[in-house]
Amino acid sequence: MQVPEALMESVVRGWRDLSTRLVQIGRDRPEGAAGIFVNPPVTRGSTVLFSSLEAMDAAGQRRYDDELIYGAMGTPVQHRLEQAIAELDGGRYGQIVPSGLAACALPFLAYVSAGDHCLLSDSVYGPTRRFADRVLRRFGVEVTYFPPLADEDELRALVRPTTRLIYAESPGSHSFEVQDIPMLGRLAASIGARLVVDNTWGIGLFDPFAAGAHVSVQALTKYPAGHSDTIIGAVSVASEQDWRLLRDTAIQAGQTAGPDDCWLTLRGLHTMGVRQERQAATAIAVALWLHERPEVRRVLHPALPSCPGHENWKRDFKGASSLFGVVFDPAFDAADMAAMIDSLTLFGIGASWGGYESLVLPTTGSISRSCRSVTQDGPACRFHIGLEAGDALLADLEQGLGRMAASRDGRAGA
Ligand SMILES: *Cc1c(COP(=O)(O)O)cnc(C)c1O
Repeated sequence: MQVPEALMESVVRGWRDLSTRLVQIGRDRPEGAAGIFVNPPVTRGSTVLFSSLEAMDAAGQRRYDDELIYGAMGTPVQHRLEQAIAELDGGRYGQIVPSGLAACALPFLAYVSAGDHCLLSDSVYGPTRRFADRVLRRFGVEVTYFPPLADEDELRALVRPTTRLIYAESPGSHSFEVQDIPMLGRLAASIGARLVVDNTWGIGLFDPFAAGAHVSVQALTKYPAGHSDTIIGAVSVASEQDWRLLRDTAIQAGQTAGPDDCWLTLRGLHTMGVRQERQAATAIAVALWLHERPEVRRVLHPALPSCPGHENWKRDFKGASSLFGVVFDPAFDAADMAAMIDSLTLFGIGASWGGYESLVLPTTGSISRSCRSVTQDGPACRFHIGLEAGDALLADLEQGLGRMAASRDGRAGA
């Protein structure tokens, strides 16, 4: 599948530009020592021993300076990873937490109290929504979902005097709407609320702070770790005051990540540029191929005009990731799509994404929404494209679509 040059460039440019920085990021400089290993050691530990009580007190006073106090308050490799993620995300400070979902929950725990109100995009990651509905509401926090592409007037009508936090995720989980984050940033600033953006898809490609966000949420489980072997997350922030509050809250809530997970993620980060340059290039080729298939009603890839909010992607992003959605023609049903998915040999069936391997997951019926989404126009699924050869993936999809048509024809004949 030939991808027009300008389109390909718009998809891979950001990853190529990042590669050089990613090689160096988080690396030690050989200052005191004559030589050092390229990668930092893993420091496993709970208790840190001090030479005196005075030294222990002094370390406690410097707890925001990456001082070693106790394993639950951070290890050297965690602090290294925090700096790397903050730099990559366009922020200044980072806090590592044990999962992407822990990162989604942390800003609510830090900023919101009983009686406060939060506005969440209707397209947020499902478990974030469940945290809001089942935990936040139980603690007396009010939650309203807004259409991901709502304009400023629609949003202003939903704002209350108690609105403390606006939470966006762009592109949206499963439905891939690319949100107008700069507009949300202006709105948040005008009402004195915090804007939190789940930037997992756009890591390294979108700068949420330049768009007015206060906190960027990252599921590092995805592209940074990159090998489907770790669960880990981070928040990054631009202001030191926000960071102190988020770090204190993470420690108070016992959100500690293991040093081995931090180390794996730091290692994955160094190759993320080249993995993603390749995966994003294959993904846009597969997306375009699907776009031209008669079985497909709509491809939800932010770099294509068929994706809701594509104009925002064009304005705000330096590239694209390798995760996108497809909505099939409503002549097919969920069972036809299941026949296609079950027949694929190169696409694993499973949750998550961001590893080196291709995945597929149905998105029909499995997501809750308050507003209508394009994923309801026909059976829908989500593809994650890995490092396999594009031709092999297309051949697998070709036979899969054949199975889907045979399933539909079987129903029509029955
Ligand atoms: C996967 C994901 C998360 C959660 O990450 P985990 O590490 O699996 O907890 C959060 N947000 C987005 C957008 C995700 O894709």
